[in-house]
Amino acid sequence: MPSFVITEKCDGCKGQERTACMYICPNDLMKLDTDRMKAFNQEPNQCWECYNCVKICPQQAIEVRGYADFNPLGANVIPLRGTDAIMWTIKFRDGRLKRFKFDIRKTPEGSIDPYGGKPDPDYSNIKEPGLFTHHSRGEKMPVPSE
Ligand code: SF4
Ligand code: SF4
Repeated sequence: MPSFVITEKCDGCKGQERTACMYICPNDLMKLDTDRMKAFNQEPNQCWECYNCVKICPQQAIEVRGYADFNPLGANVIPLRGTDAIMWTIKFRDGRLKRFKFDIRKTPEGSIDPYGGKPDPDYSNIKEPGLFTHHSRGEKMPVPSE
């Protein structure tokens, strides 16, 4: 189920042209209503509940209505992003709280070279199945039989 903005908490990222939630959504769903300076999910049906907008919002103004399989009725799941970890708080409808802390990447944004140390791809294999690293090692990928 989609994300939604708690409008009382949203400050429109203080009037920036591109808000944090607009920047992070892989589906370009978040939009800023510039009259009210409040963000909203412009196409909830397309939201895949990745929680990126929830994690990045500096005001903790976004939540996701979770499916019942991981989020019991009336409960909510709130991530709080720190510099080295995310603290997930699960609040049950009877008031019980559970907290889980998970590490996050600590390398600076944009610093990873995904092709570092990898061979150059051989484009003559572009239509072959498999990864370019397999081909560069002379390996053949098994082709599934029909
Ligand atoms: S990131 Fe949060 S505070 Fe910023 S515009 Fe989106 S909902 Fe509002
Ligand atoms: S939960 Fe993910 S897909 Fe949905 S609006 Fe937020 S960032 Fe976009």
